Amino acid sequence: MSQETLASEIRQSALERNAQVESLRWKKFSVLDDGFVCLVDVMGDDSSIVQAARVSYGEGTKKVSDDRTLIRYLLRHRHTTPFEMAEIKFLVRVPMDCWRQWVRHRTANINEYSTRYSLAIAAAQTTDPGEWRTQAESNRQGSGDALPADLGQRLTQEEAELQAKIRDVYQSRISSGVAREQARKDLPLATYTEAYWKIDLHNLLHFLALRMDSHAQLEIRQYATTLGEQIVAPLFPIVWEAFLDYRMQSTFLTRLDSGVIQRLTANAAAAGTAPPFSDDAFIAAQDPTWIALNRSRERDECRSKLQRLGLLAQAQE
Ligand SMILES: Cc1cc2nc3c(=O)[nH]c(=O)nc-3n(C[C@H](O)[C@H](O)[C@H](O)COP(=O)(O)OP(=O)(O)OC[C@H]3O[C@@H](n4cnc5c(N)ncnc54)[C@H](O)[C@@H]3O)c2cc1C
Repeated sequence: MSQETLASEIRQSALERNAQVESLRWKKFSVLDDGFVCLVDVMGDDSSIVQAARVSYGEGTKKVSDDRTLIRYLLRHRHTTPFEMAEIKFLVRVPMDCWRQWVRHRTANINEYSTRYSLAIAAAQTTDPGEWRTQAESNRQGSGDALPADLGQRLTQEEAELQAKIRDVYQSRISSGVAREQARKDLPLATYTEAYWKIDLHNLLHFLALRMDSHAQLEIRQYATTLGEQIVAPLFPIVWEAFLDYRMQSTFLTRLDSGVIQRLTANAAAAGTAPPFSDDAFIAAQDPTWIALNRSRERDECRSKLQRLGLLAQAQE
C-alpha cells in the first residue's frame, strides 16, 4: 500500500471515529428512576491497545484480524498495561448508597458535586412497589425474591413520606441560615449526587467485571451494565468482545474444581453414565476437604459451575 493510500485510510478512520464519539458524547443513558451515565471524553480506541502492545506507530487500519487476535491474547493472559493506554471520562448521576460502593474503586479520578458549596440535588432514588426485595438466605450481602405487591405498596408509601419529611427538614435548616455542609447531615443515602469519573480501560474493565457480576447489588449492576453495553462496547468493540468471552462469560476453575471434574468423569466412565450427572454423583466426587462440612460455599460454587457447564443436572425447584 502506498504512503498516500495509507494516510488517506488513517484520515478516514479518524473521521469515522470522531463522528462515533460525537454521537455518544453527552448522551444521557438513564439508570434507575433519575440517574444517568454519559460519555464526556475518550482517549484511544481498540487500535491504541494494539499500538501500545507492539510499541510501534503507523499500523493504521490494516491487519484487523491480527489486531483482534492480539487484543484477545492480551486480555486472556491478563496483560494489563496496553489497556491502560485508553482512558474514558464519564458524567454520572448516582444515589449516594450506590456511589459509596462505586468510589471504593480507587484507580479512577473523581470530581464530585459539592453539597457544602451547593444545595443538595433535590432528587432521591425511589423504589416502586414491585421492586422491594427480601434478604437473601444463601448470601448475607444479597437480595432474594421480590416482596409481595401489597407490602411493597406500604413500603413505597413510607419511603415517599420519609423522603418528603427529610427534604422539608433540610429546607428548613437552609432557610434558618444553617451552613449547607451541616444542613445536609440527615439527607438519605438515596439522594442523588453527580460526578465526573475518569478511568483507564484496564481499571474500567476491572470495575465492570466486579459490578456487572450477579454478586454486586442490583442498583450498581444497572449502572455498570449501562456503562459497559451503551458506551464501552461501541467505543471498544474488539476489547468488549474479548471481555465478554474471557471475563464475564467465562468459568474459572480452581484446582479443587478440576479434581471434582476428573473424579466425576472417571466414576461416570466406570459406571457407564453420561452427563448431566446427578447430585449424588457430584457428592461422591467432591473434594476431600469438603466432606466433613455440612455447609460449604466452595462446594456450592463448584456445583453451580458444573451445572452451568452441563455436567450436573440443574437443581429441582
Ligand atoms: C460484590 C462485592 C462486595 C463487596 N463487599 C464489601 C464489603 O462488605 N466491605 C468492604 O469494605 N468492601 C466491599 N467491597 C469492595 C471491595 O473489597 C473493593 O474495595 C472494591 O471492589 C474495589 O476493588 P479494587 O480494590 O480491586 O479496585 P481498585 O481500587 O480500582 O483497584 C484496582 C487494583 O489496583 C490495585 N490497588 C489499588 N489501590 C491499591 C493500594 N492502595 N494498594 C495496593 N494495591 C492497590 C489492586 O490490585 C486492585 O485490585 C465489595 C465489592 C464487591 C464487588
